[in-house]
Amino acid sequence: MPSRVDRKSKPEATQVNISGIPIGGPEVIIIAGPCAIENREQLFETAKLVHAAGANILRGGAFKPRTSPYSFQGLGEEGLKYLEEASKETGMPVVTEVLDTRQMELVCKYTDIVQIGSRSMHNYPLLKEAGKCMKPVLFKRGMMATVEEYLLAAEYILCEGNQDVILCERGIRTFDNSTRFTLDLSVVPLLKRLTHLPVIVDPSHGTGLSWMVPAMTKAAIAAGADGIMVEVHNKPLDALSDGQQSLYPEDFAQLVKDIEKVAKAIGRKLFHHKQSPV
Ligand code: PEP
Ligand code: MN
Repeated sequence: MPSRVDRKSKPEATQVNISGIPIGGPEVIIIAGPCAIENREQLFETAKLVHAAGANILRGGAFKPRTSPYSFQGLGEEGLKYLEEASKETGMPVVTEVLDTRQMELVCKYTDIVQIGSRSMHNYPLLKEAGKCMKPVLFKRGMMATVEEYLLAAEYILCEGNQDVILCERGIRTFDNSTRFTLDLSVVPLLKRLTHLPVIVDPSHGTGLSWMVPAMTKAAIAAGADGIMVEVHNKPLDALSDGQQSLYPEDFAQLVKDIEKVAKAIGRKLFHHKQSPV
């Protein structure tokens, strides 16, 4: 068991503070937004709707790790600029993925949280770079990584001096392909026991199916997750990436209400942002 992430080396839970939003404390948090930033209107429309529904943090990819090189790759810096603008407009902090060590400085300039995606979990130079950057890191589990490999990879980030790491289960590959991935909710209590780091769940990539996202979100909160990250699109049918797993804004609004109930049932609360102008 790696030492810096180990709960034995730090029995009290680590809380990562994102502009006044504590992740890993008694309250659960919601990260929502589109898979990819496609244009200004799509991002702003979605951002306003998720904010009004109760999301705490806005997500959106500007550099997309796509299976096919012919698929939409993201808007790059233009997307990061829209993200920063949407953050100012709604008051929500933002998270976006970094794919390459050469993008780290640029991405850090625009974002509050740096995301390292599933496909990059084994990219050790990128992990070291994230460990040196001064931003909190949302660190996703590799789709084929054991818990030990995942925690050793997280250790790389902590070793470089960055303690603000948020773990994120996003589904793993198994023999079954009836869903996009198999959302391994059993790692939530396991990671909470083994480490002091906050643990969130991404039920969108975990299932690949928007109709299944609400059930798995509620299950994740019930299992003890400190928050969820969910894909929402103002027009899922027109999405340039991950449309089938993206919630309609109205379904997201209902989900927030349900999260509130599940959180209450297990003695937690949903973090409420101070109302800011939209
Ligand atoms: C994402 O959250 O945008 C993403 C690409 O997810 P993952 O790395 O889990 O596939
Ligand atoms: Mn996606």
